[in-house]
Amino acid sequence: MDKMKSTQEEIQSLSERYLVNTYNRSLVFRSGEGSWLYPSEGSKYLDLTMGIGVCNLGHCHPWVSIAIARQAWRLMHCSNLFFNELQPQLAKVISEASFGGKLFFCNSGAEANEGLIKFARRWGSQHGGRYEIICAEHCFHGRTLGTLAATAKPKYREGFQPDVQGFSFAEFNNLESFRAKITDKTVAILVEPVQGEGGVWPARPEFLQGLRRLCDENSLLLLCDEVQCGMGRTGRMFAYQHYGIEPDAMSMAKALGNGVPMGAFELRQEHAGVFAPGLHGTTFGGTPLACAASLAVFEAFDKEKALDNCTAMGAYFKEQLLALQERHPECVADVRGLGLMLGFSAGKFQKPIQAACEERHLLVLTAGEDAIRLLPSLLITKEEIDLAVSILDEAMTAVVAQAAQ
Ligand code: PLP
Repeated sequence: MDKMKSTQEEIQSLSERYLVNTYNRSLVFRSGEGSWLYPSEGSKYLDLTMGIGVCNLGHCHPWVSIAIARQAWRLMHCSNLFFNELQPQLAKVISEASFGGKLFFCNSGAEANEGLIKFARRWGSQHGGRYEIICAEHCFHGRTLGTLAATAKPKYREGFQPDVQGFSFAEFNNLESFRAKITDKTVAILVEPVQGEGGVWPARPEFLQGLRRLCDENSLLLLCDEVQCGMGRTGRMFAYQHYGIEPDAMSMAKALGNGVPMGAFELRQEHAGVFAPGLHGTTFGGTPLACAASLAVFEAFDKEKALDNCTAMGAYFKEQLLALQERHPECVADVRGLGLMLGFSAGKFQKPIQAACEERHLLVLTAGEDAIRLLPSLLITKEEIDLAVSILDEAMTAVVAQAAQ
C-alpha cells in the first residue's frame, strides 16, 4: 500500500485499530504551505490554528525545510554526552533575543515547564527550604504529572491523582489574590503572560509588573510560561517584552522549531549555577536536527520581518473582528489578544462557529469555556485575513439562523 495514497476511511480505521484514543479528530491532512493545509481529499483549508501555535512561520517554511533536510544528511543526533556545534549557537540567539540568560534544551512545552519547576524547587532548597509555586487560575502548563499539578482546571487531573504537591492557585490579573497566597514555603510564581488554552487572556501591565515587584519584595522567582505566547506570536519575540519586566526564568517550545519538536527553558545568568552536571537531562534535548530547524526559524523571522508583519496584521485582524462584533453581537462578546494571538468570547456559539468554519474550509481553535482562538501564521497576508473574516461572517450568520429555527 502506498502510505501517501490511503483513503480517509483507511486512515481512520487504522487509527481506531492501532492508536490510543486520546484525540477527537476528523480531517486528514497530507501537506501544507504557508497558511494553507491540503487534505487527502477535496480542496484546501485556510489554517488559523497553525498546529496550535507551532508553525508560526506557516507550514513548511522553505528555509526551515531546507535546513532540516541538509542537517538530516549531516548529523541528526549524538546525545548530550557530546557537544554539538549548533546548540550553543542557538542558545546565543535565544539569549540575545531575550534576557541574556542560559539555555537548557528539551522537546516539548510540558518538559520545558517541568524544568522550570525543578529549577524553582532546587533554588528553593538552597534558599530556606521553600518549594511552593503559585500558579494562575485558568492556566495551562502541560500534561505531565508535574505540569498537570501546576494546571488549575481539575478536569485535566481527574483520575490521575494523587497530584504532585506544592502548587496553589490565585486569580489571574489580580495581584492581591497572588499576594494572599504567599506562605513561608513559597518559592515562585508561574504565569503565562498571555493565557492561551484558558481563553486568550493577556496579563494587564500593572498585574505582571506587580508580580515582578511582589517576587522581588518576597525573594521569589518569577517564572514565565512562553510556550504558546512566545516566539513572536504577540508581535515581540517573547510576550513578557510588552511589559517592561524580565522573568527569572522562562519556558518556550511550540514555535521554536516551526514543527520540529523542540523546547527550552532559559535561566537568568545568576541562577544558572543551580544546575550542575547530572542534575537534569534528556536524551533528545537540543539535537543537531532540532537546533538546525530552530536556527533557521530565527533567521527566517529576521528576513521575513515576521514580528513587523505580526504587529501590522494583528492590528488589522483585530479591527476586522471588532467589525464582526458589530454585525454579530450574539457571537462576539468581546475581542482580545496581542499581536496574532487573538480570541473572542462566543458564548453558546463557540462550538457551532468552529464547526461552521470547518465546513467552509477555515480552521479555528477553541479555548477556555467559550472562546474562539485564532493563531494564524505570523506571515499571514491581508487577503488571507479578509477571506478568513468573510468565512467567519458567513459561519456566524449560519449558526445564528440555525439557533433561531
Ligand atoms: N504551556 C502552555 C502555555 C501551553 O499552551 C502548552 C500547550 O498547549 C503547554 C505548556 C504544553 O506544551 P506541550 O503540549 O508541548 O507539552
